[in-house]
Amino acid sequence: MLPTDSALVLFSGGQDSTTCLAWALKNYARVETIGFDYGQRHAVELTVRPQLLQGLRAHSAAWDAKLGEDHMIDLSLISAISQTAMTHDIAIETQANGLPNTFVPGRNLLFMTVAATVAYRRGLTVLVGGMCETDFSGYPDCRDDTMKALQVALNLGMDTRIKLETPLMWRDKKQTWELAEELGGQPLVDLIREGTHTCYLGERGALHDWGYGCGTCPACALRARGYRQFVGAEA
Ligand code: ZN
Repeated sequence: MLPTDSALVLFSGGQDSTTCLAWALKNYARVETIGFDYGQRHAVELTVRPQLLQGLRAHSAAWDAKLGEDHMIDLSLISAISQTAMTHDIAIETQANGLPNTFVPGRNLLFMTVAATVAYRRGLTVLVGGMCETDFSGYPDCRDDTMKALQVALNLGMDTRIKLETPLMWRDKKQTWELAEELGGQPLVDLIREGTHTCYLGERGALHDWGYGCGTCPACALRARGYRQFVGAEA
């Protein structure tokens, strides 16, 4: 067990956040989840969440006992205050500043801040998020320094000692699959492969070796490559 014993996991239903949730279930005595509905173009992620929670409960009796309340928060204000390909029906492309137009400026700052408020109310002392600098699409709010600065700001602003944990920060997608295998063996890998959703286009028609998705959007491409490296099919 890690020193602090209770965690709130930012859980979207994607590969990264599901791996983070499994990591938290392994490391903390009490785990709750939080999800955000912010007018995503495709709400597939939100529909797979309950099935994944069920799958994790079925995976291990210990995890079932630790897993507590799931908090769904309406953050539809995001689509009111920003216009990006994540929330509006426009083509995904790279902008002049080098960031993809799926970038919602400050989204993770907002997510973590809302999560901190819920954690405060629930008496949870750790926030767990799937932010990652290794494979990231250039999102500055996924940076390790951003998260560390936010941890300081939140604790000063709320007079707390909440810790922000980002277990995937220095892992690439292959290593994220490896972490899943380490945490729950092949059954957890299969649950994540078949149950999680990453595709930007919300495509869930065909099951590929790496999971469901269109196979061509940046999120699918990254996920497919990582999985193939994980199973040794690609260098
Ligand atoms: Zn896709």
